[in-house]
Amino acid sequence: MSTRLEIVVATRNRDKFREIRDILKDLPLELVSLEDFPDVISAEEDGSTFEENALKKALHVWRQTGKATLADDSGLEIDVLDGQPGVRSARYAGSEHDYEKNNAKVLDLLRGVPKEKRKARFVCVAVLVTPAGKIVMNRGEVEGEIAEEPRGAGGFGYDPIFFLPRYGKTVAELDEATKNKMSHRARALEGIKNFIRGLASAP
Ligand code: IMP
Repeated sequence: MSTRLEIVVATRNRDKFREIRDILKDLPLELVSLEDFPDVISAEEDGSTFEENALKKALHVWRQTGKATLADDSGLEIDVLDGQPGVRSARYAGSEHDYEKNNAKVLDLLRGVPKEKRKARFVCVAVLVTPAGKIVMNRGEVEGEIAEEPRGAGGFGYDPIFFLPRYGKTVAELDEATKNKMSHRARALEGIKNFIRGLASAP
């Protein structure tokens, strides 16, 4: 019999799921995504904060499955746009997950904005709900700048236009292992890893 704790990751986004699996690979877990639960209805992401949305997503799936559930609500905050796209990052240019259109919209809005005013951050809030309904939450952030043009083929979403001065690269130019050590998602999950470890080893 398997002793690995099953956790449902409350997402149908394969890019996000792949990263979460890699970040948590050292823990004795069986991670499954909503692709394995076609009947589960996703929560409407209508909250005004990442915390609100992450909690909503996690509880929504936990109520339908009764299983330990992990949710991640994440996005990009751009200072000169007063924190936009923020919680609207996934659908900023319209349809969901059209990464190229989202990036083009950001670059258009920032055309002519000087480097020192292109500051931005990736934010991720991770929420775990245990089968018994206990909740843990943690936020991770990474500071960077919006590039002048897309560069790199790794990662997903806004990675090609998010420049990290200390690496001299966009996130899309980092290898996967490096991104998954320092990303907003890695930082958010790092803060709840010990809790997950405890849950996974509970009798
Ligand atoms: P969510 O599914 O509402 O959390 O939407 C997250 C959206 O934020 C994604 O669709 C991407 O547009 C963006 N995003 C989140 N994390 C990342 C990342 O690691 N790299 C690039 N874009 C990201």
